[in-house]
Amino acid sequence: MKDLLLLGAGHAHLKTIHAIPVLHQHGVRVVVVDPAPHLYYSGSISGIVGGMIAPRGGTIDTRAIVERNGGRFVEAAAIRIDPNDRTVALSDGNILSWDVLSCAVGSHSETRFTVDEAAADRVIPVKPVRDVSRFDRPFLDYAGTHPCHIVVLGGGATAVEIAGNMVRRARLRGSSCQVSVVTRSAQLLPGFHPAAGKIAEAHLDRLGVAVHVNSSVTRVGAGKIILADGSTRAYDYVIPATGLGVPSVFADSGLPVAKDGALRVNRSLQVSGYPIFGGGDCISFAPQELARVGVHAVYQAQVIYENALWAAGDTGPMDGKEPPASYTPPDRMLQILNLGDGTGLAIRGSRVRVGRLWLALKERIDWGYVRSGGARLRPSVAAPPREMIPITR
Ligand SMILES: Cc1cc2nc3c(=O)[nH]c(=O)nc-3n(C[C@H](O)[C@H](O)[C@H](O)COP(=O)(O)OP(=O)(O)OC[C@H]3O[C@@H](n4cnc5c(N)ncnc54)[C@H](O)[C@@H]3O)c2cc1C
Repeated sequence: MKDLLLLGAGHAHLKTIHAIPVLHQHGVRVVVVDPAPHLYYSGSISGIVGGMIAPRGGTIDTRAIVERNGGRFVEAAAIRIDPNDRTVALSDGNILSWDVLSCAVGSHSETRFTVDEAAADRVIPVKPVRDVSRFDRPFLDYAGTHPCHIVVLGGGATAVEIAGNMVRRARLRGSSCQVSVVTRSAQLLPGFHPAAGKIAEAHLDRLGVAVHVNSSVTRVGAGKIILADGSTRAYDYVIPATGLGVPSVFADSGLPVAKDGALRVNRSLQVSGYPIFGGGDCISFAPQELARVGVHAVYQAQVIYENALWAAGDTGPMDGKEPPASYTPPDRMLQILNLGDGTGLAIRGSRVRVGRLWLALKERIDWGYVRSGGARLRPSVAAPPREMIPITR
């Protein structure tokens, strides 16, 4: 038997995790390392924050799937990879050896500003989705006193979705919280067709969300945000959505990395010269720069599976040969944002549409994926489980 070690039970590894029985048939033992027994599906976060979808509508029980399929799940984080000894050191002190390694350890929200110690308990992280009660803190803390001011930092897709859906959640809670967005970009949704940013701003405006563009945050202090031009803005709670960073495990291990510490892989999603593959947010794809979005991770999952099977299994040797599969990023992909007012903003290149049907489609696609444990990307005929937030006014 050969040992295939998967670091991260994320989107880019779900295909391989579902195929553990097939890998066994080819003489491959599979061990999965992840500090969390569940995967939180980020596409559902906005619906969960907005009180439309129950947290379980965005959670995949990865540990259960691995063990049901006959694999071993180790609840720990990888802290160092030795590509020569073919070992990985874990946060629990154990060391695992492998014949073939695949890395999909994802990304985390990166705060590109400093947060004072006195302000730390006023910062609400976007992930994980299961601990959704933290999004109620502003409403509970300020119930019956003064309306609380929530500032979402960032102007990308996550910031837009969170701002709209915090308004929705506040309304469901009967709170008159104010929400605003502070972004350093000149308009919302930079990187998308300009029409998308304009539509998002108009929808947020109708929800009462003030958008402050060209405002670069340098520091979050107690009760006030300090901008690059020295001006300040008052806040009660801050939700950062300013970008994604990569875990430091690859740089710490001396593996080939990009400037931001992402694992450098070639077209086959392989670290050239090593039986190491990688996918999703934690890689730097040598042929071209890729956005850190779920679509790439989901499509790359098939490539990782085929190449890992080839490298570890009885289907082909590793040395001196090219792996059979390579990743071709889709020309244009459809992204649908949940704007928090019951509509979805669909963007595919220069085609931008908005409406209720798009949100319904997004919910069915996301729920179809989560419901199948990440095995399929087909829309579900059933709606996702609903959140039971009482509407108090
Ligand atoms: C806050 C946030 C919001 C996002 N919103 C969206 C969105 O709305 N739409 C969209 O398309 N994309 C979104 N993304 C990006 C999307 O989540 C990713 O593109 C996708 O999840 C990448 O899949 P992955 O397999 O690389 O990582 P993930 O699916 O995130 O899985 C990574 C796994 O690795 C584990 N892990 C982490 N460190 C270690 C370690 N050291 N050792 C072992 N395991 C480890 C984690 O616990 C996790 O289970 C968002 C990302 C973040 C962080």
